[in-house]
Amino acid sequence: MKKLGILGSTGSIGVSTLEIVADFPDQFEVVTLTAGNNLTRLEEQIRRFRPKMVAVISPEGAETLRRRLGADAPEILSGVEGLVACACDPDIDMIVSAIVGAAGLVPTMAAIESGKDVALANKETLVTAGPLVTAAVKRLGVRLFPVDSEHSAIFQSMEGHRMDNVRRLILTASGGPFRNRPLAEMRCVTPADALAHPNWSMGRKISIDSATMMNKGLEVIEARWLFDVLPERIAVHIHPQSIVHSLVEYIDGAVIAQLGIPDMKTPIAYALSHPHRLPLNLPPLDLCGLRNLTFDEPDLERFPCLGLAYEALAMGGTAPAVLNAANEVAVEAFLNGEIPFLEIASVIRATLAGHEVKNLEHIDEVLRADLWARKQARQVAVKIAGGGQAC
Ligand code: NAD
Ligand code: MG
Repeated sequence: MKKLGILGSTGSIGVSTLEIVADFPDQFEVVTLTAGNNLTRLEEQIRRFRPKMVAVISPEGAETLRRRLGADAPEILSGVEGLVACACDPDIDMIVSAIVGAAGLVPTMAAIESGKDVALANKETLVTAGPLVTAAVKRLGVRLFPVDSEHSAIFQSMEGHRMDNVRRLILTASGGPFRNRPLAEMRCVTPADALAHPNWSMGRKISIDSATMMNKGLEVIEARWLFDVLPERIAVHIHPQSIVHSLVEYIDGAVIAQLGIPDMKTPIAYALSHPHRLPLNLPPLDLCGLRNLTFDEPDLERFPCLGLAYEALAMGGTAPAVLNAANEVAVEAFLNGEIPFLEIASVIRATLAGHEVKNLEHIDEVLRADLWARKQARQVAVKIAGGGQAC
């Protein structure tokens, strides 16, 4: 029986994780759950999975939950302290890190520091603090299992192989909803257009990141730290069918890939039960029914966010944390109708350009850079919004 803490249980990854837990009740038990503001869904999850402790963002939210659950209420905490308590509970074997954004960093790091294995969906943890996280993982001897489908594919394609035999990692990208959209037509796409991902059903923020291809940029940074591979050995190929989830090229020319239907349950389940596989009830991959599998170079002119991520990685130190925070602010501004789609990259570029890179010695530097970048990016976004360039 593996005892789980699920950070971000009400989101897309959190809900899929709990579906797996429900299907394998003799293998998993839920000890803690955390959520942002979706109290109704969290209440349902508490009634069903009976965690001993939960946390939400605000004290008011915690109070509302206590009132609604009455005698059925577990211990209900709030704020970052609440998240950290739910990440570090001594009964937990593994944390599923599925909060969206940089908000996932502190509780995920706390889980690692308290010796928990982590199933990592929150890529922002590695993007913002990669070297600190991997050092802590090594020091504490815990294991980090990727949930992101590309990284799970690479992880699976490297099992049993030596790292020094790897020549290149090839991350696949669907290309998102605007893969074939000419630049001129991308300017005035709406949030609804951008949220309509062709292959995957995901949370709002990562869906916009897929449309700008910043998601792939964040994944390049994630791969750099997760697999300890230099950026020049990480390539991105556009693969619209989302069947080949990523590939590893070896020094003898062999290329090993992992394939499957696009469903996050496969990588989530593998992270939860490694090295075992769970008999998931998913439709099989119909290889003969696939008409073709295609691969292409990404277009950095139409998708500048991908290039910005490589730039931030080359700048090093606090730069990826700044890239990430500026992106979160810009995505929010786009979703609120404040800035046009193509200005997401402008906000990030301007914020990065104004940043004085610092070395990463401690998580506090990451948090300071994140705060600075949010303020800076907000100012840039407001300026763009006021510049009358909206659609
Ligand atoms: P989501 O928006 O659906 O869910 C996010 C969860 O985090 C929710 O439970 C929400 O309540 C909680 N949350 C949000 N802000 C919070 C805050 N400030 N403090 C505490 N909790 C907060 O997101 P998602 O699509 O499930 O993605 C979660 C993570 O997994 C992201 O880092 C994303 O990049 C990664 N990921 C998602 C997918 C996918 O298919 N959805 C695939 C690969 C990786
Ligand atoms: Mg991914």
